[in-house]
Amino acid sequence: MMNLKPYAADPRYSKGRQFSEAPSPLRNEFQRDRDRIIHSTSFRRLQYKTQVFVSHEGDMFRNRLTHSLEVAQVSRGIARTLGCHEDLAEAIALSHDLGHTPFGHAGQDALNLCMKAHGGFEHNLQSLRVVDLLESRYASFLGLNLTFETREGILKHCSRKNALQLGELGQRFLENHQPSMEAQIVNLADEIAYCHHDLDDGFRSKILNFDALRELPLFNKCYEHVVRTYKHIQDEQAMNESIRRMMHWIISDLCEVSARKISALKPTSTDEVRQNATLISFSEAILCEMQSIKKFSRERLYGHSKIIEMSHKAKTVIDKLFAYFKLNPNQLPADFCADSSDTVERKIADYIAGMTDRFAIELAHKV
Ligand code: MG
Repeated sequence: MMNLKPYAADPRYSKGRQFSEAPSPLRNEFQRDRDRIIHSTSFRRLQYKTQVFVSHEGDMFRNRLTHSLEVAQVSRGIARTLGCHEDLAEAIALSHDLGHTPFGHAGQDALNLCMKAHGGFEHNLQSLRVVDLLESRYASFLGLNLTFETREGILKHCSRKNALQLGELGQRFLENHQPSMEAQIVNLADEIAYCHHDLDDGFRSKILNFDALRELPLFNKCYEHVVRTYKHIQDEQAMNESIRRMMHWIISDLCEVSARKISALKPTSTDEVRQNATLISFSEAILCEMQSIKKFSRERLYGHSKIIEMSHKAKTVIDKLFAYFKLNPNQLPADFCADSSDTVERKIADYIAGMTDRFAIELAHKV
């Protein structure tokens, strides 16, 4: 049983779905959202999409599916601790990356360049497009018809220009308001998850070693404690134990700092949460640690020649596919065109964004 506080999102008072539906006798509205996401095609494809490493480079690396599951686990834990709605946090976490292209950020950058003269491509906005339009699982509407609260959480950032076209959902970007507490939790849970699992994958791929990792103050502190306590520990265990302790430290910090902010403000509703500054945050010290992890990963991992080389290959594949479909739009799958008002370039971007790493590579070989 969830111990919900007054500021938690309440599925009984949801701002609703675009197409109204009869309530379910078994599940609350956020659980229904979560279930729809898990059964979607885009969710299954996350398994074969890169996080940092191309999905078939090795079975031991994270992909977007395992990343999303880790974000959901961290989000639920924080939501439970703070008395927020776990099911909403879970639904947002599981759907937050549905709009990602193949090949991680390299793929998104390449597709964005292809779309430069046609409105650009942004994975976060694309996640919303997937749940609002591109999934076709229901007879009476396109998309998954999710609640306002889940959609609000998916849309993390948005330009003014795009916000103006998104109605109630875009309003908060124009008024500088926050999303629900659950959405704020997922936002930081996402950072916590990728910061740690990228270090872990970097270590497994042998791009990062202990000497490099120990330049990170928090990692060093955890690592030293582990090897002092367990004198004969194996490297892999020492790595896992250090990462585990780091995550625990950071999540505990977030829960303590956020609980303090919440008890100072005492919000009595989700709308009050929305109208105030963000309540979910790290301490200054942990914020610094998080920034140094991100800077370290940018320089040592994402900037490593192996990863850069992969990014170049990804760009070649995306460019080739985009150019091919632009010349041969009749080769797009006939049942794919979701919205007749979309330009052919947008349809191509939707199609490419939905591909898995392997499918994109194989198709680029064929065309
Ligand atoms: Mg993510």
